[in-house]
Amino acid sequence: MTKRRSASSEKSTAGPPADKVAVAIVGAGPSGMTMAIALARHGFSVALVAPALPAHDDRTTALLDSSVEMLRALGLWADVEPHTAPLRHMRLIDATGRLLRAPEVVFDASELKLDAFGHNIRNSELNSALAAACGQEASLLRIEDRLAHVETGTDGATLVLESGRQVEARLVIGADGRMSAVRTAAGIAAKSWRYPQSALVLNLEHEVSHHNHSNEFHTPTGPFTLVPLTGRRSSLVCVEQPDEAERLFAMDDETLSLELERRAASILGRMRIAGKRQVYPLGGMTAETVAANRCALVGEAAHAFPPIGAQGLNLGLRDVAALAELLVAARSKGEDIGSDAVLARYERARRPDIASRTTAVDLLNRSLMSDLLPVQALRSVGLYAASRVPPLRRLLMREGIAPMMARPRLMRGLSLS
Ligand SMILES: Cc1cc2nc3c(=O)[nH]c(=O)nc-3n(C[C@H](O)[C@H](O)[C@H](O)COP(=O)(O)OP(=O)(O)OC[C@H]3O[C@@H](n4cnc5c(N)ncnc54)[C@H](O)[C@@H]3O)c2cc1C
Repeated sequence: MTKRRSASSEKSTAGPPADKVAVAIVGAGPSGMTMAIALARHGFSVALVAPALPAHDDRTTALLDSSVEMLRALGLWADVEPHTAPLRHMRLIDATGRLLRAPEVVFDASELKLDAFGHNIRNSELNSALAAACGQEASLLRIEDRLAHVETGTDGATLVLESGRQVEARLVIGADGRMSAVRTAAGIAAKSWRYPQSALVLNLEHEVSHHNHSNEFHTPTGPFTLVPLTGRRSSLVCVEQPDEAERLFAMDDETLSLELERRAASILGRMRIAGKRQVYPLGGMTAETVAANRCALVGEAAHAFPPIGAQGLNLGLRDVAALAELLVAARSKGEDIGSDAVLARYERARRPDIASRTTAVDLLNRSLMSDLLPVQALRSVGLYAASRVPPLRRLLMREGIAPMMARPRLMRGLSLS
């Protein structure tokens, strides 16, 4: 193999023979595991390289309908669903207290003839179900290790792991999160930015049923969003100025519960903090391309943005679905799955969706923070129209779940072959 690029100055040393697979995936978060299962189910030999799962991740993810459709198509939904709460209604409440305020808007999944917009689940439960499914795939080799560096060549790539073990593959998929080592190895630059906000994230038990309503209060510092979990529980993402997020984080459970109940206008009654709290500084990142040098990126390795509007992983799963579809098609035509032509097709397929979602989340977030009257007026008029004009409501709801232009076959419940 002609060596074309090395991610570090280290050289691969002689050792035991390398594992040889068609595709090596780095990262076993939800994007990497779903990618591994989709490819193994379609007959690819796959290595999945990542350290063991963290024992606890109290964050939750709202899987929108198109992602649910994909998990269903892969036969994973039956194991995931019991841990989820359906999101049937979405209420947007203007809590900016400004002169120009938007009317309250409630979207209802039944208007789209759906049972729910999506389903909310704790990441640890989603990851456990996906890890169990990975364990069932005969052509999937799970390697608990970290990537040290990648050497890419004209006909394949060699991954060198921290233990010294090596894996050879036609294609490397970077599902290794925001700080992706695969992205660096492929020589792909990324643009990052920060917002003057942090998110306090935690789960709550509450007295009153959420009735499957997701409640999003729009405040001048960002959204305060309560998303249903199973039972009388909800997850909270409270976007605040960094100092205020730290102040809330430092409160004792009782004081914080009362403060959150006040901010939620008591719609869920008395609240109790359940589990750990976390604070995330808000920022975004976009890779300049999602594929180069025998490497393709999926999930947060390719794009990251604030936890607003439940878009991050749903966008990542669309990467997974699109890449799986392209690879199955390339193989059926006898193409090299890691070739520049296939990678260029993946970039073309994903760029519009990634660019439009990144812009939409950015605009929504900045419109809340803006003190400019014209921006507030535009937001209010937009939400007023959304509350009154049925076709616009349906368009917004449908596009919020997944853009029509970016629904790979798996997200329409179709098989790939
Ligand atoms: C508070 C919060 C709420 C959110 N809510 C939602 C939501 O409701 N809906 C939604 O769609 N999205 C949501 N998101 C976004 C979502 O959580 C992320 O998009 C998603 O977790 C990214 O998954 P991933 O698999 O791409 O990356 P990650 O989950 O970051 O996984 C990366 C993997 O790579 C591994 N790794 C890293 N480096 C290496 C290496 N060198 N070698 C080997 N392995 C490596 C890690 O161990 C890990 O297994 C939210 C995010 C936050 C912060």
